[in-house]
Amino acid sequence: MNREQNKIIRESIITFLFFLALGIIFWKTKGHPFFLFNFGYIGLAAGLGELLFGLLPRKNKTIGRKVSQLLIGFYLLGVLGFLGRENMQLEGFFFYLLAGIFSGPVIHYLIAKTAGTFLFGRGWCGWACWTAMVIDFLPWSKPANGRIKKAGILRYIHLFFSFILVMTIWFVFKKRNFHQQTQVELQWLVIGNLFYFIIAIFLAVLLRDNRAFCKYICPIPPLMKIGARFSIWKIMIEKEKCTECGLCEAHCPMNIRLLDYMKKNQRVQSTECIACQQCVNICPAAAVLYSKGLDIGTREYLTFQGPSNN
Ligand code: SF4
Ligand code: SF4
Ligand code: SF4
Repeated sequence: MNREQNKIIRESIITFLFFLALGIIFWKTKGHPFFLFNFGYIGLAAGLGELLFGLLPRKNKTIGRKVSQLLIGFYLLGVLGFLGRENMQLEGFFFYLLAGIFSGPVIHYLIAKTAGTFLFGRGWCGWACWTAMVIDFLPWSKPANGRIKKAGILRYIHLFFSFILVMTIWFVFKKRNFHQQTQVELQWLVIGNLFYFIIAIFLAVLLRDNRAFCKYICPIPPLMKIGARFSIWKIMIEKEKCTECGLCEAHCPMNIRLLDYMKKNQRVQSTECIACQQCVNICPAAAVLYSKGLDIGTREYLTFQGPSNN
């Protein structure tokens, strides 16, 4: 076993231990051993994905990311959602917060989609999301075109209407007898996710872009982009190794102009980065790294359709 392989194994174990530690903290503070299983499982899935990603040859590395996506996605949606009847949709999170119920979805949104973004950026979107675990099997991981200008605003409108919907049900219709694990939870989850899957697949096929739903419709990025700006882990290009072949940009599923960051001696500070590491895999000069550091994203360099890219 060489030094690089040892490092990959060590980092995968650290990932597992990090989640295990979270499980122990929640177990001790909430008094329920379920948290140990829950976070231990997520840590095992993420650690295994990271291990496979690190050890497999370049052309197969995506398998590691997909293993992590499938193991975590099926667990959260299938086991906690469908079997446990927890409304894992964004609206469920709002309802549980209003009802003062510190449930699975609240912990999930607080850790994966808010606090965790300060550490791992939008790693959730690249490695664990149950919507993305389906659309990432479609054939357009390399988007056919740049982004549609201004269409990203729809995500903020979606978030706003989700919030207004919950507020209206709570304050106007005064439906406050809100409980966990009811039939209503299950119906909301099934209908909400069906809606997401249908729109996500339709957009991917229409625009020949697997991640179109993430770019234009999903209400989660506006929440995640706050912490992702500060993320400790970000992509970085080693300038002296880069030949400016452009492959990393062409294959980035989120249309990020990585070289613009490199030319400014910055890490890839875009809050659109989903940490998929496709750029790491594709680079023939091994110039792209997933790195630790301290910086704050201030500008988005993205490729758009049309004459101007800014
Ligand atoms: S943007 Fe939304 S759908 Fe896309 S990966 Fe992130 S949470 Fe999932
Ligand atoms: S793929 Fe590698 S060598 Fe090519 S532009 Fe990107 S970082 Fe530079
Ligand atoms: S910059 Fe790299 S890690 Fe980030 S979304 Fe693009 S390909 Fe994935």
